[in-house]
Amino acid sequence: MSPDLALSELEALPSLEWSDISQRIAPAMRSSLEKVLETQNGADLSLEESYALANAESDDLLGLLVAANMLRAELVGNIVTYVVNRNMNFTNICFVGCKFCAFSRGPREEDAYFHSLDEMARRAVEAWQLGATEVCIQGGLPRNLPKFYYRDILRAIKQAVPRMHIHAFSPMEIVYGVELTGMPLDDYLSMLRDNGLDTLPGTAAEILDDQIRHILSANKLSTAQWIEVIRTAHRCGIRTTSTLMYGHAETPEHWVRQMRLLRAIQSETGGFTEFVPLGFVHQNTLLFQQGLARTGPTLAEHLKVHALARVLLAGSINNIQVSWVKLNRRLSQLCLHAGANDYGGTLMEENISREAGATAGQYTSPEDFQALIAEIGRIPAERNTTYSRISIKLPLDQFTAEETLEPEFA
Ligand code: SF4
Repeated sequence: MSPDLALSELEALPSLEWSDISQRIAPAMRSSLEKVLETQNGADLSLEESYALANAESDDLLGLLVAANMLRAELVGNIVTYVVNRNMNFTNICFVGCKFCAFSRGPREEDAYFHSLDEMARRAVEAWQLGATEVCIQGGLPRNLPKFYYRDILRAIKQAVPRMHIHAFSPMEIVYGVELTGMPLDDYLSMLRDNGLDTLPGTAAEILDDQIRHILSANKLSTAQWIEVIRTAHRCGIRTTSTLMYGHAETPEHWVRQMRLLRAIQSETGGFTEFVPLGFVHQNTLLFQQGLARTGPTLAEHLKVHALARVLLAGSINNIQVSWVKLNRRLSQLCLHAGANDYGGTLMEENISREAGATAGQYTSPEDFQALIAEIGRIPAERNTTYSRISIKLPLDQFTAEETLEPEFA
């Protein structure tokens, strides 16, 4: 089997059992995977064992995928969740200049836009009426943004739709807000919380290694700043997601170090709700055009990153999301067979990945998610942002008793 598995070779993945593959994988790799299957705790793997898993190929890679799928079943059961949400990128004007970004515009470009507070509130009301429970708000960083604009967005939305969950502002935007207001970070985050910020996206992480970050975006916040914003948010009672962007200039060792770092933060704060691997969409980006990145992840890398996350984060961050916007339908389903258990948001608008050339579309309806999930024999359920409430969406008599075992969410 070639190191990079073809889609046709992977079609058999859903029916592959551990007993089919375990004798074909290298003994050291088998013993690492058996250890985690036994303890259900990724902390039991050494750095070297983790690197070996991240570099697995051929049958070893299949073994990793099957083990991740088994761990997923043990840790979170057969339910696959999604959240009904609307993405609101309030402006595409940005001075940061990340080379992987095809979304940002200069202020004088013809298609630059900036939504008013009234427009943001109107969109939130519209989303609520269409059944959304969350708005996800991120945007570019325009120069001379009014000092308290992030706070004012929260106020405008909560005033219009008090029960809407606001998942907003990347750590980069938080650092910008601190710079604009001159407030200490914890005061700034507490102010946002008190004005309606419910959770924070753990985006702007990309790869948490300053050398790689320098290639991707010389002006972006540093690794230390990202960690500081996340830790402080957790301490202020604001939970966050965690992310990693793969398929550009990084190596498998970077994935491992980032997952271990996230584990370390989680054991200190318990503030992460989920981990979201984000595949780099290379078309239309300077990073690719300047020859600084590969052409996005291979099929094997997509599956490997989701499986590796399931294994290394087991017992720490137990919700692993598939970012369907960046994948096609079949590949997103295969990721659910390789350790993932969440489909993310329906995203009534999705601008950032589309501009970079992703083709999965702007919106997946709850019914589409339910069909995609049921098609692979799992149970669709709508969740809220923090996974504290889930509601199963199809009649249970369609499933076997084993499939309906209730998961325990971390
Ligand atoms: S990723 Fe965000 S911060 Fe970077 S250029 Fe794009 S909009 Fe600006």
